[in-house]
Amino acid sequence: MDKSIEEVIEMIPAVADVADLKETMWMNDKRKSEWGEIRREIGEEEIADAERRLERFAPYIEKAFPETEESHGIIESPIRMINGMREFLNNDFQSEIEGDLWIKLDSHLPIVGSVKARGGIYEVLKYAETLVMEAGLLKESDDYSILTEPRFIEFFSQYTIQAGSTGNLGLSIGIISAKLGFQVIVHMSKDAKEWKKKLLRSKGVQVIEYENDYSKAVEEGRKNSDEDEKSYFVDDENSKSLFLGYAVAGKRLKKQLEEKKIIVDSQHPLFVYIPCGIGGAPGGITYGLKGQFHNDVHCFFVEPTQASCMLLGMATGEHDKVSVKDLGISGLTEADGLAVGRPSAFVGKLMEDILSGIATIDDKKLYCLMKKLMETEKLFIEPSACASFGALIRPQDMKKYVMENNLQDVMKDAVHIVWATGGSLVPQEMVEEYLTKC
Ligand SMILES: *Cc1c(COP(=O)(O)O)cnc(C)c1O
Repeated sequence: MDKSIEEVIEMIPAVADVADLKETMWMNDKRKSEWGEIRREIGEEEIADAERRLERFAPYIEKAFPETEESHGIIESPIRMINGMREFLNNDFQSEIEGDLWIKLDSHLPIVGSVKARGGIYEVLKYAETLVMEAGLLKESDDYSILTEPRFIEFFSQYTIQAGSTGNLGLSIGIISAKLGFQVIVHMSKDAKEWKKKLLRSKGVQVIEYENDYSKAVEEGRKNSDEDEKSYFVDDENSKSLFLGYAVAGKRLKKQLEEKKIIVDSQHPLFVYIPCGIGGAPGGITYGLKGQFHNDVHCFFVEPTQASCMLLGMATGEHDKVSVKDLGISGLTEADGLAVGRPSAFVGKLMEDILSGIATIDDKKLYCLMKKLMETEKLFIEPSACASFGALIRPQDMKKYVMENNLQDVMKDAVHIVWATGGSLVPQEMVEEYLTKC
């Protein structure tokens, strides 16, 4: 870092809060409020290409994972109105949410039950496609369901796919890779949940655990993979294809809103709240949404107080050169999907022009929000995913943002979407255990 930690704490109040483990909110002062001023280093065409690839693979997905039959192999989740939860937030946190509150149920995405179904599965499919095309075994116009045939499974078994993961990324990479026929190694930090490791092992995935934190697991995984030329490493600190897989969500959500006749325009702004770990999932989604809704969408990330790496990286402008450990913070959180101490610089830089802000939330609150959502909406999402409520429970900060962006007159018609990033695969006994924590 160019500046000392003491200097950045002095200069940036939100960073001082992070250092004190106080919940806080940082508003992105580098954001460009006009679409025309925003740099688009990744073009719409690249996102459209990712979307078309997923369409080509749909017949394969449908055949390999019969649970996707209804959507014909397109892995997508519904949105649902949760105004019962809005009432609770308005009563107990004085959130003053005026427009409708919706939830995007990536917690219930087929196959892996988390947002990682978007990026993780996409990246593996892309790699698989490249391999079989180079080998002359498949062309774009083929029906990709042939990939379920034994000759392809045998072909893929010569190759290994590796990933570092706090849990859900490993699940998504592991499940899709094993299904295609690849050898799979997932490098996990020790604090990753036991049931996730078990589930992976049951699919024939090799799970290697590390005493150290997540960055160490990624580093070792990358090294291990680089030594083997038939091994591919899914690098969620730097992966563009992972990012593109997430970004496809933008256009899909737009279509979903249109189908429900939900208007988004300058008089009906869209506010989206997404839990953030290393940044790939919320970053890709934000990027995709911005490309669809331009000035009319406002995206916020939420991180646990113990692992607010993206806030630290973006607020200081140091990105991956700074870790929460530099502030004396553990990086450990019960929200295992978000237990990351050092953010992706690739994502952080892409967010500079477009992200509205980042809130932080205490672990304890996640359990209580989880419980309330179950009570008000009969809906379970994992504690990490409940971080998505973290900005909405900071009405003072949100009000300031609304005033500064001159949105006060249209907030009554705003659409709020909390992005539920995981949950449907959590075993019932874990749910019971979580419920005892609030
Ligand atoms: C991975 C994950 C996130 C955040 O995604 P990143 O790409 O790590 O920022 C959020 N919620 C859940 C449940 C996750 O598994």
